[in-house]
Order: sequence, then C-alpha cells, then structure tokens
Amino acid sequence: SRGAALATATGPGATADGHPVALLANVGGPRDLAAALEYGAEGVGLYRTEFLFLDRETAPSEEEQEAAYREVLDAFPGGPVVVRVLDAGADKPLGFLPPTGNEPNPALGERGIRILRIFPDVMLGQLRALARAAEGTSADLHVMAPMVAGPEEATWFAGACRAAGLPSAGVMIEIPAAALRAADLAPAVDFFSVGTNDLAQYVFAADREVGALTTYQDPWQPALLDLIAMAASAGVPCGVCGEAGSDPALACVLVGLGVTSLSMGAPALPWVRATLARHTLAQCRAAAAAARATTTAEAARAAARTHLPGLA
Ligand code: PEP
Ligand code: MG
Repeated sequence: SRGAALATATGPGATADGHPVALLANVGGPRDLAAALEYGAEGVGLYRTEFLFLDRETAPSEEEQEAAYREVLDAFPGGPVVVRVLDAGADKPLGFLPPTGNEPNPALGERGIRILRIFPDVMLGQLRALARAAEGTSADLHVMAPMVAGPEEATWFAGACRAAGLPSAGVMIEIPAAALRAADLAPAVDFFSVGTNDLAQYVFAADREVGALTTYQDPWQPALLDLIAMAASAGVPCGVCGEAGSDPALACVLVGLGVTSLSMGAPALPWVRATLARHTLAQCRAAAAAARATTTAEAARAAARTHLPGLA
C-alpha cells in the first residue's frame, strides 16, 4: 500500500524479505552532514576527512579534529559512522606536507595510505582525535584507510587503529590487486568498503578526471562487478561507498553480490531505499548473476532489469 511504501521510505534499509542493508551517507563537509540527516541516512558510510585539511598551511590541531569528529558521531548516536583517514596525493596537495615530487600520473603516485606511511604522524593524530571523540559515548565508530593495495598495508593500518584504542579498522577496496586478493586482506581487518570510483579508474586504466573516458567509469561494467563480488565474498562485512550505490537498480545488484551496506550522496537514499524494499534478496541475487553473465555495461543493466520488476 501507499502507506507501507512511505513507511519503508524512511526506515532502515532492507530488501522486501527483510534482509538488512545499511543505507548510509557520504559526507565531505558540514553541509553533507545536514543532508544526511534530512534524507534519513542510518549513519555515515564515508566521512572524507580531506575537507578538514585542504586549503591550509598547518594541519588542524587534534582538538579541532576531535570537535569535528564528535559532531558527526553526535549526529548519528545509534548508527555506524565510518571515517576515512586522510586521502591526500599529488592530485590534492596539502600545504603542510612536503610535495611528493613531480608525479606525471598523480592517480598512480604517492596517495592515500602510501603518503600516510611516509608521514605517519598525520594519521596517528587523526586516530588519537577519533578515539577521544568516541570516548565515553555509545558511538559505533569505524575507521578505514584509502588506497590499500595489499595485506601488509592493511595489517599496518589495523595495528595503528588498535594501538589507538579504536575497535573497528577497515580498508577501502579501490585498487584491483586488493579486490583480486581480498581473501588475503580480510584476516587483517574488520570490514571492507569498495570505492567504485577509483576501482573503475584503475581496472580500466581510465583517469576519472578525464571526461572523454566516462564510458570506462560506468559502474555496470561486468569486470567491475566481478571485482566487487570478490571483495564481498571474502568473509568480512563489505560496503560500497562509491557512486555506484546511488543507482537503485545497481544497488540491488550490489546487494545480490553480497554487499552489506551502501553509502552514497544523501539525496539518492530515499529512492534506493524504496527500490530495495520492493525486491527480495533472491531477486537481487538473480539480477547480479544475470548482470555478470553479460559482456558490456549496457547489457548488464538490461539483464539486471529483467529480474527487478519493481523498478520505477
Ligand atoms: C571511491 O574511490 O570510490 C571513493 C569513494 O573515494 P573517493 O571518491 O573519495 O576517491
Ligand atoms: Mg577513492
């Protein structure tokens, strides 16, 4: 009924048969936090801390960071909040870190966890500020690292989180090697979060900043779906926080691949929530299998639709 549809449009995410899928918001600044609340996010699936660090000559103090982190934790007292440590690189230079040199291919250079390993103090300060922000609260805080390529980096990051007293450490799966060997990374961490924007960029060797290459960035590409399936079947909870989750049909496919939470720009949440609520887990799985059985993004989209009768 209309009333039931409205009720599911504001409740926690789930398929028609009650399989829960946390529906979370991506937050890259204070305005996004307001939108996350407005659109009924259950929590934050990707808090991009870069905005605290950009356009300044000195790193924000730990006190300043703690206040920002507490603000997001307070906004979602019962829901998960997944904070990503700094994802800097030659594409996003920071005034207070030495330049990493003249990298001809910044996307393939010293970015994400690679920089944090060179300058660990920045990350350790973030972890301390996060631990203090969560102290004495019932916050469901998770912390993750960007651009992790393999188990050695995952182990290093998780160890630093544990040493800081943080209970949940994860890694983003956005480098093909990490997806291909997700089973090797899983024992080191508590969760994965697939960054489909970068994963598509790297699996198709197509710069995400180049407009002429957008067809390679299509998240329906079967090669990308295969990699997400590998990450989602490695035995740890696996979210998706790239743009892919904001397409309602693709959201169903991702759930069918085994993805356990979806994080997106908040305005997409109601539509994704309503679409998921109209399909069973079995339908999502059938849609995922049909999409992966095709050879192009266009065919994958069409094949999935045949199993998702409740699409608007
Ligand atoms: C991604 O790469 O998909 C992602 C979510 O991170 P960002 O867009 O911040 O690189
Ligand atoms: Mg990324």
